[in-house]
Amino acid sequence: MKNSTPNHQELCFLPLGGTGEIGMNMNLIGHDEQWLMIDCGATFQAPLMQQEDSNPNAKTHDVVCADPTFIENRLHQLQGIVLTHAHEDHIGALPALIERFNCPIYATSFTAEVLKRKLYREDKAHLVNLVVVEPKKSIQIGEFNVKWLPITHSIPDSNAMFIETKVGNIFHSADWKMDKSPVQGKPFNKQLFSELANKKPFAMLCDSTNALKEGYTPSESDCYEGLSRLVGLQKGRVVVTCFGSNLARLMTLAKIAAENGRYMALLGRSLENMYSIARSQEIWPDELKLANRRHMGYLPKQEVLLVATGSQGEPRAALGRLANETHPDCDLESGDCVIYSSIVIPGNEKPILRMVNKLKGKGIEVYQSENCEFLIHASGHPSQRDLFDMYQLIKPKVVIPTHGEAEHMAYNAKVSHQAGILQNLVGKNGDLFLLKPVTSIKRGFASSGRIDITR
Ligand SMILES: [Zn+2]
Ligand SMILES: [Zn+2]
Repeated sequence: MKNSTPNHQELCFLPLGGTGEIGMNMNLIGHDEQWLMIDCGATFQAPLMQQEDSNPNAKTHDVVCADPTFIENRLHQLQGIVLTHAHEDHIGALPALIERFNCPIYATSFTAEVLKRKLYREDKAHLVNLVVVEPKKSIQIGEFNVKWLPITHSIPDSNAMFIETKVGNIFHSADWKMDKSPVQGKPFNKQLFSELANKKPFAMLCDSTNALKEGYTPSESDCYEGLSRLVGLQKGRVVVTCFGSNLARLMTLAKIAAENGRYMALLGRSLENMYSIARSQEIWPDELKLANRRHMGYLPKQEVLLVATGSQGEPRAALGRLANETHPDCDLESGDCVIYSSIVIPGNEKPILRMVNKLKGKGIEVYQSENCEFLIHASGHPSQRDLFDMYQLIKPKVVIPTHGEAEHMAYNAKVSHQAGILQNLVGKNGDLFLLKPVTSIKRGFASSGRIDITR
């Protein structure tokens, strides 16, 4: 590879972020003197050195992303940025980096809307050529033919990607699980993915987040029963905290609130923003009514269900303000409950524990998904059986685990081997995964640091 540029016989994958860590995804596919970027995400409260991730005393920065220097140095080769879905670890760095990239951005409708609103907030929407693409249709971006393939995850409009070039094809799973009953959106489409095998994908890049977990990831709809039973047992106010972008979870909660004679309101800007996008995209069903948060303080406590931001212990989020008795719309008291319909993201254990203790100190009952007798959270990522089945559907020649720390990726590779895929390449950010004409890894090919994009 001359001047770090792939020639017309070469096809390669170069992750700058998100491989060897969970967060700040930034992936490059290279072929014939051109590059295509897949996703451009951020991580919150992270150190600038990856080695410091496990050090609880490391200095952290509010918003961090992968260092894009490699691609900035060859911008004329960058054909476009394609987005798989609207989670922050996939689009969160774009508002900060957009001026550096002089190329179109391609996304399906919901993802484009989330990004557009972020860019408007920073007065940058006019800087971007944002192309809204249709799922299941191919578009040609330079030498890359790209198709968005709807896949079940934990935010609407998530897509895997099929990228065809003259020398070989790549299937990029993005974030996914096999959800037969996802509450929002269509169920996992097995046929769509088994048909891909006919196109002979050479390499498959695959989400490793839950590769240490056995079995299948529970379906989003499995949360209904657990949450319904738990809410049904409550006599006081119910506060549920969850990831704001999980609109399916919000729909489940709205249904449960109505069935239990409770009014549901959203507390926190990110929840209100997601709900507003869901309305504008006609994703939110009209029959699921929400109440005005300003009325919640006047209702009898057994009629209240609040969904609040702050599942990761953020003191300034709505749950933090409720715990500190500084929320303008509602007060909690002994006998109320807080349900964490979420997981503890590694690194956030301490702030969450602080919040839980504060709530318990006020006599508030706290339920966390990790030790609750009911299923009150379902992950959006594939466990071992999801992975195994997917490998058998796609049948790639080579598997490249991504979206995980070293141990997740090693286990993902092991599962792919069990599923009959004989070759896998396990590397990390900055390594060049050469796929064609010969398959190999060049370790440390590009610099792979992090930059602070807090503003
Ligand atoms: Zn992700
Ligand atoms: Zn995601």
